[in-house]
Amino acid sequence: MLFLYNTLTKQKEEFVSLNPGKVGMYSCGPTVYGYVHIGNVRTYLLSDLTRRYLEYLGYEVRLIKNITDVGHLTEDDVAQGDSGEDKIEKAAAREKKTPEEIARFYESYFKQVEKELNILPAQYFPRATAHVPQMIKIIEALVEKGFAYEKNGNVFFDVTKFEDYGKLSGNTLENLKVGARLEEHPDKKNPWDFALWLKAPAEHLMQWRSPWSTGYPGWHIECSAMSTEYLGSTLDIHTGGEDNIFPHHEAEIAQTECFTGKQFVRFWLHTRHLLADGKKMSKSKGNLYTLEDIKEKGFSAMDLRLFFLSSHYRSQMEFSWPALEQAHKNLQKINDFVLNLEALTASENSSLETFDVAIYREKFEAALDDDLNTPLALSNLYELISQVNSEITSDKLSSQSAKVILTLWKKINSVLGFTLLGQAEIPEEIKRLIEQREIARSGKDFKKSDDLRALIEKKGFILEDTKDGMKIKAVGRL
Ligand SMILES: [Zn+2]
Repeated sequence: MLFLYNTLTKQKEEFVSLNPGKVGMYSCGPTVYGYVHIGNVRTYLLSDLTRRYLEYLGYEVRLIKNITDVGHLTEDDVAQGDSGEDKIEKAAAREKKTPEEIARFYESYFKQVEKELNILPAQYFPRATAHVPQMIKIIEALVEKGFAYEKNGNVFFDVTKFEDYGKLSGNTLENLKVGARLEEHPDKKNPWDFALWLKAPAEHLMQWRSPWSTGYPGWHIECSAMSTEYLGSTLDIHTGGEDNIFPHHEAEIAQTECFTGKQFVRFWLHTRHLLADGKKMSKSKGNLYTLEDIKEKGFSAMDLRLFFLSSHYRSQMEFSWPALEQAHKNLQKINDFVLNLEALTASENSSLETFDVAIYREKFEAALDDDLNTPLALSNLYELISQVNSEITSDKLSSQSAKVILTLWKKINSVLGFTLLGQAEIPEEIKRLIEQREIARSGKDFKKSDDLRALIEKKGFILEDTKDGMKIKAVGRL
C-alpha cells in the first residue's frame, strides 16, 4: 500500500486513484526565461519518482507538465501576481530577442536537462501561450458566478468569496491579516485578491484580446486551465516546490474549485527547498547552480540524480560538493555491482547456494510505499550490494542467482532511473586513450602511462589492473 504525504491534509494518506488503474498527475513546469537550476531539478525529480513508482505498481500515469511562457511577473514571489514586469519580456529585452525566442530557447534547455537526468518526459508539455482561450473561458465563468470582478480592464479573483481560501497553505484570510505586507493594486477590493487578467500597457509585447481588455493572463490561471483541459476537473496528484504552495497553488485551488464546483486535487506533493551555503538556492543570492556547473567540476547528471535520491524529498537538503562526491562514489559502487553481475551471468558458475532476492524486493517496496523514502531504499540497495560482493568474493554466487538479482535490479532501477554505462558502451575516444596507455606501459614509459590514466579518469572512467588483465569501469557519464 502506497502512502503519500498530502500537503492538503498534512498527513500521510493511502493513495488510491480516482479511476482504477489510472492516475492523472500535473506538475508545475518551468518559467522559461532563464536556465533551470538544480533546485528546480529536485522538484522535477519528485514528479519523475512518483510517476515511476506508480508505473512500477502497475498504474497507467498521465503526466502533464506546463511551460510558463507568459504572465509570470517579477514580483510574483512576494505579491499576488499583479506587479513587476513580465519575466520573459524582461529577459527578451536583456538578450535582445523576441519573447518567443527566449521562451523556446529556455524550454529546450529545460528539456535537455530533464533528458540528461533521465527524467521520463511528460505525456504533454502544454504552453501557456497556446491556452489563452481556455483561461478566458474560466475567467468569464468566475466573473459570471461572482467569484471574480473586473475594474479598468483588469480582472481579480475575490478571495473573500471562497470559504476554503487558505486550506492548503494555512494562509487563511484571518492569518493573512497579521503582518500583511503588500503593494496593493489600485483596482483590487482586498489586498489578497489575485490577478486573473491584466490590461497590457501598449509597449507590452505579448497581449491578447479578451472581453475585458487587450492584455495577458495572471500567472496562476494557466495551471488551472491546462490541468483541467488535459486531466479533467479532479486531479489525483499535483506536484511542485514548497515555494509554490503560496500563493500559486492556493490560487489554483480557489479559482478551479469555484469554476468546477468539485475538489481540484486529491494529493498535493511538495519538495522542500534545496539550500546552498545555508540559504535557499536563488538567483538573487548568487548561490545558484546549473547542471553545467556540476559537469564542469567533473560530475555527471547521474551523480546529481543519486545525490537527490539520497535525501527524502520532504527534507530540506543542503547542496555541497563533498555530498556530490559521495553520491559519485555510491554510483560507482552500483555500477560495479551491475557489471559484476553481468560478468557472472555469462560465466558457468553453478554454485548450489541460492540467493533470496524476495526479501530485498519487499524492503524496496516498503521503503517506497512509505512516502517515497528513497534514502531507505538506497541503503537497502547498498546492503544487497555488500551481500552480493561478499558472495562473489567467496565464489558462492551462481550465474543463475546473478540473473535473478539482475532482474530485481532492473525492476528497482525502473524507479530509481539510473543510466549506467556498460563495458560495451565505452566511447571510441576512451578506447583510443587506453590503447595509447597500453603502448606506453609496454614501452615502460610509466610517466606517460600515469598521465594517460589520469586523463581517462578525468573523463569519468576508471582503469584497474587486475590479475585477469585490465578492467575499465564507467560511471554513468554521458
Ligand atoms: Zn503551476
